[in-house]
Amino acid sequence: MNADLVVVGSGFFGLTVARQCAEDLGLKVLVIDRRDHIGGNAYSEPEPETGIEVHRYGAHLFHTSNERVWQHVNRFTRFTPYVHRVFSTFQGGVYSMPVNLHTINQYFGKALGPDAARALVAEQAGEIDTAAADNFEDKAISLIGRPLYEAFFKGYTAKQWQTDPRNLPGATVTRLPVRYNYDNRYFNDTYEGLPVDGYTAWLERLADHENIEVRLGTDFFDTSQEVSKGNVAGNVPVVYTGPVDTYFGDAEGQLSWRTLDFEQEVLPVGDFQGAPVMNYADEDVPYTRIHEFRHFHPERDYPKDKTVIMREFSRFAVAGDEPYYPVNTPEDRQKLLAYRDLASREENVLFGGRLGTYKYLDMHMAIGAALSMVDNKLTPHFKDGAA
Ligand code: UDP
Repeated sequence: MNADLVVVGSGFFGLTVARQCAEDLGLKVLVIDRRDHIGGNAYSEPEPETGIEVHRYGAHLFHTSNERVWQHVNRFTRFTPYVHRVFSTFQGGVYSMPVNLHTINQYFGKALGPDAARALVAEQAGEIDTAAADNFEDKAISLIGRPLYEAFFKGYTAKQWQTDPRNLPGATVTRLPVRYNYDNRYFNDTYEGLPVDGYTAWLERLADHENIEVRLGTDFFDTSQEVSKGNVAGNVPVVYTGPVDTYFGDAEGQLSWRTLDFEQEVLPVGDFQGAPVMNYADEDVPYTRIHEFRHFHPERDYPKDKTVIMREFSRFAVAGDEPYYPVNTPEDRQKLLAYRDLASREENVLFGGRLGTYKYLDMHMAIGAALSMVDNKLTPHFKDGAA
């Protein structure tokens, strides 16, 4: 191995770091990944019977307001004009998500205008002081009031996190906008779309550089591998994007992660649910949502008599599971401080990505963070010899 840099994990964070370093710094970069495919959880592939692109680890929707990230990603893929919209089924009715004027009027059986709806919700939300709301439940109630919270968030969140919502961060609920108009776009960002020829083609182009070697099926913790933890030649820096607790052998205790199980089905109908994603807010429905992948690419020539759906189930990750979501309870945050301290003292190793930093990063955030790591850490290290 004669790499200048080792990147552990070939998700968006790892590949973006690899590409920048290969291209701008002229470094030889070795990317290793435990899995048999690149892309981490953004990986997608055609379902064999229908050719419909399936996101193997759950639906990934690209959106960003960051100009630099948008410029960067457009070098590797073109985007469709897809705009993400979600609906939620609650007690036999279908509602618009995220909460907007339509949801409010549907739920309360009214025909309120923006000001009247705002006044109604403000009255219901008054029980919580927004400024003091620092957990998921308080934050949600302070934004949309208890009735809407109990209908659309309580049951879904119980299934998604299995954690007292008072122990979840407020930031998890503010991922979703609340709107007093009929705009039902799921995201607020300036740019949005799906990669024209799929996520995997995008990720492959990102990795396609003469200075980058990707080794799949290569576990960083398997000491029989040529490159593994504690066995990286010389002073070659490592960018590690796996779970931070795993790196340190859970020395400070396990961080809690949620994993997902999926049940995929090909159905003999042209359209199962009429929308890409249907959330299920009732707690007694075991899955959180159903994805119907054909709707992500209405521009493609998919079969008209078949569709692919995927039910999504959430549970705590145990050894051997893929971690997806950092739960981030107060205990997790305590442990994370200890891990950050260990990480800062780990010579020649930088931690990044959703798993490496235990942060609920979206794809555009992971890409932005990777660009920053190259600017702020790797470029000074390689160009100026700074630590
Ligand atoms: N959420 C909810 N009901 C919904 C959608 C979201 O309660 O219909 C909550 C839930 O706790 C979820 C969080 O809001 O984990 C963030 O939602 P988002 O859609 O951003 O989650 P992701 O798509 O990343 O799983």
